[in-house]
Parts: sequence; structure tokens; C-alpha cells
Amino acid sequence: MKNNFAKNKLIVVLGAGESGAGTAVLAKYQGYKVFVSDSGEIKQEYKTILEQNNIPFEEKKHTEDKILMAAEVVKSPGIPDNISIINKLHQKNISVISEIEFAGRFTDAKMICVTGSNGKTTTATLIYHILKNSGFNVGLAGNVGKSFALQVATEKFDYYVLEISSFQLDGMTDFKANIAIVLNITPDHLDRYDHKFENYVRSKFRITQNQTAEDALIYWEDDPVIKKVVENKHLNAMLFPFAMEKHAGTDAFVENENLIIETPKRDFRMKTAELSLKGQHNIYNSMAAGLAAMIMDVKKDDIRRSLADFQGVEHRLEYVATVRNVRFINDSKATNVNSCWYALESMQTPVVLILGGTDKGNDYSEIENLVKAKVRALVFLGIDNSKLHMFFDDKVDNIVDTNNMQDAVNQAYNLAISGDTVLLSPCCASFDLFKNYEDRGKQFKEYVRAL
Ligand code: ADP
Repeated sequence: MKNNFAKNKLIVVLGAGESGAGTAVLAKYQGYKVFVSDSGEIKQEYKTILEQNNIPFEEKKHTEDKILMAAEVVKSPGIPDNISIINKLHQKNISVISEIEFAGRFTDAKMICVTGSNGKTTTATLIYHILKNSGFNVGLAGNVGKSFALQVATEKFDYYVLEISSFQLDGMTDFKANIAIVLNITPDHLDRYDHKFENYVRSKFRITQNQTAEDALIYWEDDPVIKKVVENKHLNAMLFPFAMEKHAGTDAFVENENLIIETPKRDFRMKTAELSLKGQHNIYNSMAAGLAAMIMDVKKDDIRRSLADFQGVEHRLEYVATVRNVRFINDSKATNVNSCWYALESMQTPVVLILGGTDKGNDYSEIENLVKAKVRALVFLGIDNSKLHMFFDDKVDNIVDTNNMQDAVNQAYNLAISGDTVLLSPCCASFDLFKNYEDRGKQFKEYVRAL
């Protein structure tokens, strides 16, 4: 075990969601004293977990005296770095780490870690699917499913596929990814990075820290941001770049409608038409997943079968229904402009696009050309649609405002013509009108099915 942290010390866990509750249970199992503090209300399911494990907690406040007694603090990824209690912890030199860093100390499992601005959940779930179908004893965790810490406490996996956000990476220092994947880097969450893109990029590349020559880094080599870092940063890992077109050294690419993977040891080939996930972005995700599987010596037939029968992930370009020849697609997880770009790019028919929500500093010019080329009408869905109006009013003729999902679905349906696609791909976070993007996507599906 990598753990060398003295026991019987106090671990304070800030935030009691999936990540925090799991961390608290693991810390308790490992013999630490544990205290959980959440400035908001704690959901009943997590309170039950804490109570069942006799873990003391508080909600709707942070009692500073108690928190500042911690030997170490594990902060949930949703909590920003600039709040008062975090500043005080830093002043007292109390280390503040993330769940992944903490839980990584208590397992010797091999780590396959996926980061990037878009495609993390899809790619992580796809790798998990390939490995599981090939008989690996593997868990899926990070920003997806059950908390990593809880799984480390209660399971005995030999491998983990982890989806890792920049917020988790910010609190990681000693953790090592045996295989790291950086899918793409486009501006997102800049509100948490002093509005400096370079800070966000640096955070993403923490996924390579501690890697040695035995480890692997898989990355999209056509991404200008990633390319620059790979050229300038001293990276120890073996490099496995993927791209649509082959350059010198590219390990996965497309040629004559085949997805081809060439690692130093093995070659793989499969028709892109046989990939279950459609759209250009998903070819990238399939390349990244296929590369990871090839590096892990998964049998080629197993890789091929899993890339062909993967069912996709809810709320990511998810087909919902066809009503009077209008297709409805739920891409509620498109919470930034770049993911909406890929959604529009993959559309084969005219589109009625539903977008809007909490704007995180979006620049809509990225989708301007695709909107002009493919979008018949825009349905704005948000409390404040003024920024959307400012950008789109002189570019699109048909625009309507809505502030609830039922109205948005009905309006979109009315605006659509037989053969069109209604696409929910909002470019924005959902918190103005919905609990989260899952709630937004579920409501969308519900109202579509009620048409
Ligand atoms: P993440 O976990 O990084 O948020 P998801 O797999 O949940 O990524 O996908 C989020 C959104 O991004 C979806 O709308 C999806 O269609 C789009 N997307 C998926 N993969 C990519 C990619 N490689 N590049 C750009 N957009 C992508």
C-alpha cells in the first residue's frame, strides 16, 4: 500500500456528496478520526451513509475551529478554492487534497485516467466496457457512478478507469496514472481559474505528473493546446498520439474509412461504420479507448466487439424518439460551446436547437457557421437569454424564448418540419432552471414522450 500517513489523526472532509461521503467512509475504514462539513444541505442518502458508519457531520455551516484541527482535509471537487475556509487552511499549512489523491493511497490497482474538456464520461465508460467485456477485474469511478473512495473501501478491483476533472486534478500531488488520456482542451470552468486559460491547461496536465517511462500518455495530437504542452513540457511517459489523419508517429488514425491503431507492439483495424458511437468526436473517443485497450494487451476481437456494441451514455447525443418524422436528441450534457459544436457537426438533417442556461463565459462564435448552415430555428431556454439574443438575433430568423422545458419542447416541435431533428445541446450549465444536467435531460425526454 502506498499509504504512509500516520493513523488516528483527524481527516476533515469538506462537502458531503458522492465524493465526500465516499471519502469519509474510506477514511473511517482506514482508522482515521473523521469529520464531515458541508455548507449546504446534505442529501438524505448521504446522511444515511454517514450515520450508518458513525461519522460525525455538520450541514449548512463550516465550524472553523473544528475544521482547522484537521491533519489533512479532503475537499470535494464542487467546492471552489477561493472560499474563506480554504484560505485559512492554506494559511495554517494544512494540506487540502482531492478524493482521488486520498483514495489512491489505499489501493495498488492500475489506474487508467481520462481527462479533457469534453468526452471524459463517454471515453471512460467505453474503456470500462471493453475491459469488463474482456474479463478484467475493473471498476469505473471518478466523476462517474459510485465514488472512487467508496469503491476502494468496499471493493477489490485490480484496475480502475477514472474520469478525472480539473477540479479533482487540482488536489492531486502524488497520485500516478499508469495510463493517462487527455482528450482535448478547450476553455471551460474559467470562472474557477481566475479567467486564465493557462491555469486550466496546467491543471489538466497534472494528470501526467509522477508518470515514468513505463506509463503511457494518450492524447489528441491535433489539439493545438495539447500539442504545445507536449512539445514544451518534459513528459516521462510513452506517448501515444491519435488524430484523424496519420502523421509521423501517430498511433491511431482513420484511413479509407477504417479506424487503425498501430502501437509499437500490435496493430488493429476496424471499419468506422461498425463503431457503435456516431459522430466525429466519438471517433476520437473510440480511438482513445482502443489505444488504451491495445496498450493493456486486450485481445483484438474483444476490442472490436466492445467498440461495436457499446450502448453510449445517457444525456450524450442520446436518441429519444421520433414523433411525426421529427427526431429528438438529448445532449443535455453539452454544457459548453465546444460539445455543442460536435453535436451540430454530427447532425445529418436541419436542426431546431434548444440552448441556454447558466452561461460560463461562452463565446458563441465557435458554433456560428454550423448554426447558419444547419439550424432552422433556435429555442432559448433560460432565465436570462439576453446574451444569446445579443449574439444570434441578427443571424437566425426564427428564435423563441422559453423558461421551462415543457414549453421548450412544444415550441421546438412546432418549429420543426418533417425530417428535422430537435436537438437539446444547451452550451450552458443547467442550474438556473434545473437541479443539474441529468434533471434537464430527463425532463426533456419526459416532455418529448408526452407529445
Ligand atoms: P465530459 O464527461 O467530459 O463532460 P461527456 O462524455 O459527458 O464528456 O460528453 C459531454 C458532451 O461533449 C456531450 O454533449 C458529447 O456529445 C460531447 N463530446 C463527447 N466527446 C467529445 C469529444 N471528444 N470532443 C468534443 N465533444 C465531445
